[in-house]
Amino acid sequence: MHTQEIGKNLYQVDLETGGFKNLICSYILRGSRITIVESGPTSSVHRLVDGLRELNLRLEDVEYVAVTHVHLDHGGGAGTLLKALPNAKVIVHPRGMPHLINPQRLWESSQSILGFVSEIFGKPEPVPKERIIPSTEGSFDLDGGAKLKVIETLGHASHSLSFHESFNNGVFPGDAAGTYFPEFDAVIPTTPPPFHLDSALASLDKLISLSPSALYYSHFGKASNAVQRLRDYKLQLWLWARIAEQGVRGNKSLEEIRDKIFSEDAVMRRIDGYLGSHKIYSKTALGNSVQGFVDYAKQNQAKAAL
Ligand SMILES: [Zn+2]
Repeated sequence: MHTQEIGKNLYQVDLETGGFKNLICSYILRGSRITIVESGPTSSVHRLVDGLRELNLRLEDVEYVAVTHVHLDHGGGAGTLLKALPNAKVIVHPRGMPHLINPQRLWESSQSILGFVSEIFGKPEPVPKERIIPSTEGSFDLDGGAKLKVIETLGHASHSLSFHESFNNGVFPGDAAGTYFPEFDAVIPTTPPPFHLDSALASLDKLISLSPSALYYSHFGKASNAVQRLRDYKLQLWLWARIAEQGVRGNKSLEEIRDKIFSEDAVMRRIDGYLGSHKIYSKTALGNSVQGFVDYAKQNQAKAAL
């Protein structure tokens, strides 16, 4: 069983992408209409379809597939998934929409940033334009007055959305609230370039203002103490930003900045060994997230020098 009930009308599906458990999950909201949050990557769409079958849900009853953003691990599989769901439409930020319609450029940039990880996720298939609902705000009906609310949460990407579900007062932040490791009860930054700190912090404030009871991370799973966790994540972003700025000012290398971050951030000290030995996270979390802060600090410094 890779499908788990985690709340009222709410199920989590471990996509086990590339054979990795606890890496990427999708969520299913079951009401008079069925809504999926995150298609996940192309290579594991069949696991999500299996998950729907496991719950005895009819594929033709799925109305929405809401994707937080179009990165391969979140919305990359939308085109493939829609082939199995004849009546579903994709909810996406308008700036993400062109990449769903024609994923070629997204695929090429993902290959250059993610390397072998992009092959594990698989190449996205196009989504027909008429099956896309571009959205940055508003809400969609789930069942009996319950809603899926759309919140624009930029920062991780320039087209990131989060979703709030009112069955349980929970938020799907995509990558806007970091990566959660249930085994360690730890959150770490998910900030590959181009990362925008100011937007990311403003997005976290938006989510905090909703006072959610739970967060449903795409990486990975449900976490309680949502508001405290979002506040802690803000502090962690501040810490990384301060170290990156000092490092860039002192002409330190990426490795030196990374080592400093890992020694000062108590969460990283706790989880560093695990991340370093993980085939996917050693690439995405350790390399790219620090690079996002370094690039951001360099841009800030260049702006200040003008
Ligand atoms: Zn992600």
